[in-house]
Amino acid sequence: MRPLVATVDLAALRHNYLHAKQCAPQRRAFAVVKADAYGHGARRAVQALQDIADGFAVACIEEAEVAREVAPTARLLLLEGCFEPAELPRAAELGLDIAVQGEAQAEALLAADLARPLNVWLKFDSGMHRLGFDIAGLRAWHARLKDAPQVAELNLISHFACADERGHALTDLQLQRYAEVMQLGFDNCTLANSAAVLTLPQAHMEWIRPGIMLYGATPFAELAATTLGLQPVMTLTGALIAVRDIDAGESVGYGGTWVAQRPSRIGTVSCGYADGYPRTAPPGTEVVIRGQRVPLAGRVSMDMLAVDLTDLPAARLGDAVELWGAQLPIDELAQACGTIGYELLTKVTGRVPRRYVG
Ligand SMILES: *Cc1c(COP(=O)(O)O)cnc(C)c1O
Repeated sequence: MRPLVATVDLAALRHNYLHAKQCAPQRRAFAVVKADAYGHGARRAVQALQDIADGFAVACIEEAEVAREVAPTARLLLLEGCFEPAELPRAAELGLDIAVQGEAQAEALLAADLARPLNVWLKFDSGMHRLGFDIAGLRAWHARLKDAPQVAELNLISHFACADERGHALTDLQLQRYAEVMQLGFDNCTLANSAAVLTLPQAHMEWIRPGIMLYGATPFAELAATTLGLQPVMTLTGALIAVRDIDAGESVGYGGTWVAQRPSRIGTVSCGYADGYPRTAPPGTEVVIRGQRVPLAGRVSMDMLAVDLTDLPAARLGDAVELWGAQLPIDELAQACGTIGYELLTKVTGRVPRRYVG
């Protein structure tokens, strides 16, 4: 068996969920499990959180079907609403909460013949300009949906564009606009993603929507996950599948971009970009072997990558290699690669087995 596994610590996941709840006392939380729970496996994540989570949020009805199988009674929010009118009856059968993010979705809802009314989250475009109604549209649709037979609760949802940059002016503006729209009167309001859960109590409202923080990664460039009280959930572990000594002047890997400056020991690791390890990892990027950091040597290949073991003479064939996780924060790797933990987590590919602990 190929020695590469993504170990998912479900106890850490639960810890992080409870931490989100502690940040926003008295509030309820939709645990965001879209994109297969940010790559961790939605089925197992929902299972692990089921008895403590107030609800779950997903990106589409296909993801809701999976969550519903595991959590028969939980509130399940479709963050982008129904992509076509034909999904509305199914959403009603599944008992979903749905966002309504534009005219077409709102008209389809009013035209639908549903087995039971849905909890509706009217999406307000407070400044992100991706989905949702402007203030005038929101006012109009609030009036039309308020007493519609298809609507149970009429709720308000919006999303921050820059909450991960503390003190950003757009966040204040979005909060201001949101407060204005709240005056229309809603059963429930929600605004806070992880960044706002962690740093913007005035955005907590009735429901929070933590995503990335559940998985133990930080939404902030300058605030580490551990500083925020979060525990890493996924650890990606490969192994040394070959070790060799090379002379000074020899190069390693595709393109021959890494050249040994001294007689060097090179380890080959069972993880590559086809597993989701970023090919963009720059020279100097590290992995952890026997508790010690060693740098990559040369380009990441599809199924393998090379490391410089010269300063770790104890390293042996078969040693475990942590690509990210408990000893090497995913956010550190993401930052070095010019991306975010979100992307690395969601891009761990299907051939990497997930192993659940905790
Ligand atoms: C993904 C998503 C979230 C969660 O965001 P995080 O930054 O991962 O906490 C919350 N709300 C909406 C609408 C989303 O799409």
